[in-house]
Amino acid sequence: MYLCRVIQLEKKASHLEIPANGEILPVMEIFYSLQGEGYHQGKSATFIRLAGCSIGCVWCDVKESWKTDDYPLQTVSDIINEIKSFPSRLVIITGGEPLMYNLTPLTQILKENGFQVHLETSGAFPLSGIWDWICVSPKKFKSVLPEILPQAHELKVVVYHPSDITWANSFLPSVNAQCKLYLQPEWSKHQHIEKLLVAHIQENPQWRLSLQVHKYLNIR
Ligand code: SF4
Repeated sequence: MYLCRVIQLEKKASHLEIPANGEILPVMEIFYSLQGEGYHQGKSATFIRLAGCSIGCVWCDVKESWKTDDYPLQTVSDIINEIKSFPSRLVIITGGEPLMYNLTPLTQILKENGFQVHLETSGAFPLSGIWDWICVSPKKFKSVLPEILPQAHELKVVVYHPSDITWANSFLPSVNAQCKLYLQPEWSKHQHIEKLLVAHIQENPQWRLSLQVHKYLNIR
């Protein structure tokens, strides 16, 4: 009992010391699957899910990622060694909110090792890192930084309530002309919202529908 408590306290203390240089990061999980959403849907990829998020979306499906204390700190070299054996050269860095950390060292080493590197972010923190693809999914609970939207290759707005469609349209003047535009039903409401989005996209063909195929397939 006492031993467990000491170990827990040590873990918390270590996370207070996450260095700002991005050489060591809190990793919640690394797993190999298919990209289930958006433009690259269906591609095999390694997911690096970093722990830590202060956005607080009420419908978040990875609330266990919000705190860093339960997860190990890993060096960027450890991370590379862990993912090298997976067949795909596509890596998706997600969270949590990965931009809470300096992602330049991790993305640099991934690029040096021949990986294509994609980011999934709310855009609420400053952009760092070297990216082949930036997917920005703004959240109502913490505003997207205006300087990030023009750099997005993909804008993916999760629709939880019908009024979110109007909110999604408010980002259109800020993204670049090549940016791919997706509306994605929030999973807990998907049966109701999907029909709404089909009708909306038929009328507004600049948008595309993103479905979370991994959830339909019951894979990660
Ligand atoms: Fe969850 Fe992502 Fe929202 Fe953070 S930004 S609370 S991880 S959905």
